Amino acid sequence: MRVLLTGGAGYIGSHTALVLTERGHEVLVVDNFSNSSPESVRRVEQLTNASIELIEADLADPEQAKRALEPLEFDAVVHFAGLKAVGESTEQPARYYRTNIDSTLNLLDIMRAKGVTKLVFSSSATVYGDPQYLPQDELHQTGVGVTNPYGWTKAMIEQIIRDVQVAWPELNAVILRYFNPVGAHPSGRIGEDPAGIPNNLMPFIAQVAVGKREKLMVFGDAYETSDGTGVRDYIHVMDLAEGHVAALEQAPSGVSTYNLGSGKGSSVLEVLRAFEKAVGRELPYEITAARAGDVAEMVADPAKANRELGWAVKRTLDEACADAWAWQSANPDGYGA
Ligand code: NAD
Ligand code: UDP
Repeated sequence: MRVLLTGGAGYIGSHTALVLTERGHEVLVVDNFSNSSPESVRRVEQLTNASIELIEADLADPEQAKRALEPLEFDAVVHFAGLKAVGESTEQPARYYRTNIDSTLNLLDIMRAKGVTKLVFSSSATVYGDPQYLPQDELHQTGVGVTNPYGWTKAMIEQIIRDVQVAWPELNAVILRYFNPVGAHPSGRIGEDPAGIPNNLMPFIAQVAVGKREKLMVFGDAYETSDGTGVRDYIHVMDLAEGHVAALEQAPSGVSTYNLGSGKGSSVLEVLRAFEKAVGRELPYEITAARAGDVAEMVADPAKANRELGWAVKRTLDEACADAWAWQSANPDGYGA
């Protein structure tokens, strides 16, 4: 297939570009580099010995989106492009709604005009809101108790995709609800390169390990979990990337929805210990107040993806830490260096 990756220069997109290319698919990337750099795509080309067409455009702008995508030929789209910082979305809600929703609407219009009927969308476990039960399967309620505009954009885009498919039944869309992506390609050549202070746990620990941050702040130790710290389902980004290949190759027609997670929960302190093992020394931390909007525990039930997509995670949290450390230590300033 010729697969267009929107936001393909980003963290998950670049790893997916690599895996798709290695699988023999042809990859095209469109990105406005608002949270990434073309260097990631160049490194994917080096790692795979393939060439990737890279187009710069803001997909939230209908004219730019049309100008960029209309001349291209592709059979399927994986739609990663969007803004993803939870805290920032609370401060700039209109920007988040406009960017994430407009880019999806523009993309769907262009796909329909071109007769491209295959879409994979990056959704998030955040659509489940406050967990009613664990582990969460795809039948868990969504759009109830979502605590920030970023999460709402994901819940709303899921609904937009379902509505568009009713009006355009040829559309085959796969909604992938990611749990917590971590790690990097084992080469250490591509990885997560957050701008400014990392919001997410593993990139923050990695920056403590490399000496860019003084210590990890552990957000709360009084949750009802094994050690009192928050529990999440961490998934190696290479496993996640392989989930997109499975979605493109195996998903049924119509709209289908899958959790991509490991099915295993790890606490903040367990992640810290695993990272310390990868680095070979202890890392400083301090217990601080819980973060507003955080839940105690989120764990995926990945059984549906296991069964219908023939996909399952293969990598452990220890491997994710080793790979994240290989990337961070070789690229302390990310792609900017
Ligand atoms: P990322 O920021 O690294 O990648 C997103 C890419 O989209 C970036 O390269 C950015 O420059 C590009 N982009 C943003 N706005 C654009 C626009 N208007 N036009 C064109 N390109 C644009 O983020 P990521 O971690 O790779 O996430 C990819 C997708 O997965 C996002 O939709 C995100 O919301 C979703 N997701 C991520 C996580 C996570 O923890 N990383 C979890 C669940 C869901
Ligand atoms: N966390 C933390 N310190 C940090 C960042 C995160 O203790 O600097 C905790 C957070 O409270 C949660 C877990 O680590 O329990 C994962 O947080 P992250 O922001 O990576 O993902 P999400 O909140 O989206 O699950």
